[in-house]
Amino acid sequence: MPARQDPHHELIGLIRALRRTARRRGALGLHSTPVPQEPPSAPRAEKVATSGPPAQSRPAQSRPAPSRPAQSPEQSRPAQSPAASRPAEPAPAAMSPADDVRARAAACPNLSALRAAVADCTACPLARTRTQTVFSDGDSTCRALFVGEAPGFHEDRQGIPFVGPAGELLTSIVEKGMGLRRDEVGIVNVLKCRPPDNRDPLPEEKRICTEWLDLQIELMDPEVVIALGRHAAGHLLSRDDTMGRMRGKVFERNGRKVVATYHPAFLLRSPHMKKDCWQDIQLAMGLLGLKPRGKQ
Ligand code: SF4
Repeated sequence: MPARQDPHHELIGLIRALRRTARRRGALGLHSTPVPQEPPSAPRAEKVATSGPPAQSRPAQSRPAPSRPAQSPEQSRPAQSPAASRPAEPAPAAMSPADDVRARAAACPNLSALRAAVADCTACPLARTRTQTVFSDGDSTCRALFVGEAPGFHEDRQGIPFVGPAGELLTSIVEKGMGLRRDEVGIVNVLKCRPPDNRDPLPEEKRICTEWLDLQIELMDPEVVIALGRHAAGHLLSRDDTMGRMRGKVFERNGRKVVATYHPAFLLRSPHMKKDCWQDIQLAMGLLGLKPRGKQ
């Protein structure tokens, strides 16, 4: 059994063996020691564009990850067509109802076209409550044109101006007083639609609807216009006045003579005023060169 060596001698032997091995590797150009690693460099301090104290260096991982460059609004939007990317053209200004009616009236070459255009008119709220429009009655190219204010109940139902009791009185004035047939004169209203409950026409309604009336008068081409009632006379003469101050005179409107007198409906309620009306009718007849045939 081999004798057990002294541990001290074992250690010395081991050291000597290691030295020999190291000398041999050195002779062969081999390094026995590991290449020293460069110590990890300290994190660099971020440069700041300030004049204050130096910034504390921060661990790299604490820096925010570089973000992608922000997209411009154009990049973030879906692609647009060239037409869509053009600056929007200013919207045409909305036409006023009166301008719209004027434009549509101007496109009417004759009374038939005008009547059809009026029948389609919805330019004012009266279109919602009317039964139908009421355009005219009588001769389309007359010497004398009677103009009332608006259709009433019977006119709205029948589509003909001056029917019912007031219409019968007007027919009597024309036939018995003037010696003409009803169909030899023209009969129209300022408004072509009936105001609800026969209320007075509103200024805005007259302002719009007169665009139809003005062309209607031009196409019917009367020598004398006889305005029936304060509303029609005030509208045609652009006056806010009483009938007492407008009647008994001859006015001129757009080169046509205008005579004002009481509305037949008023005469039915105030028969004592018929004599004044008769004077006005005689005045109009004189302008037409007609001789009175009777008395109303
Ligand atoms: S009253 Fe005259 S403007 Fe008003 S809807 Fe009738 S036709 Fe048109």
